[in-house]
Amino acid sequence: MHIDVNNAFLSWYAIWRLKNGEEIDIREIPAIIGGDQSKRAGIVLAKSNIAKQFGIVTGETIFQAKKKCPNIKVFQGDYRIYREYSDKLYKLLLDYTDKIERYSIDECFLDMTEYLMNFTLMDIAKEIKKRVNEELGFTVNIGLSSNKLLAKMASDFEKPNKIHTLFIDEIKEKMWPLSIRNLFMLGKKTVPKLYNMNIRTIGDLAKTDINLLINKFGKHRKNDMGICKWNRQIGGNI
Ligand SMILES: [Mg+2]
Repeated sequence: MHIDVNNAFLSWYAIWRLKNGEEIDIREIPAIIGGDQSKRAGIVLAKSNIAKQFGIVTGETIFQAKKKCPNIKVFQGDYRIYREYSDKLYKLLLDYTDKIERYSIDECFLDMTEYLMNFTLMDIAKEIKKRVNEELGFTVNIGLSSNKLLAKMASDFEKPNKIHTLFIDEIKEKMWPLSIRNLFMLGKKTVPKLYNMNIRTIGDLAKTDINLLINKFGKHRKNDMGICKWNRQIGGNI
């Protein structure tokens, strides 16, 4: 199971503010979380849905964002707050398994293998999603599968507040049509190399002869090695 907090920095900051007596929920207004202006020249780190409707994108400067929406509210965010909510999520997840990999501040992998005696993976995912929402006040996407790569890909499908499955028998339908750019961990520099081999979708990659990939990528950089492994994980040679 892969759990990914939706719009973590903005949502966590929003609920922290509400808890501390502020009346405005910054998820409901044009708002952004900006990086430390003294260190990072003021980059947009997260945005509310309304800010998104103004065309504001993550990674652009706050200056650009203000041009698109002069009334935008800019908040600094606070890593201690993110840490606090990340820990709350982690503690809640410990009710379900002790095999948790904290992949980033707002993402966890859960190995549920030994905890499925009486429940399905979907039952547990539904309960986690509901509890996080009710007890912690934010939403998550959950991806379910039999390995980490597929679970991670699944949680990235439609957002927010959704559970998606991507089991082996669903790979062709749900994953093969996607661009290889969407493949988890695929390095940016590898994309043009694959394009040159006429590999544009994940399906193209899965259908490519493994020996061809080993020849091209196997001996080289560590990053590229992954491709050979993934070829199997994404349904190559089924
Ligand atoms: Mg996230």
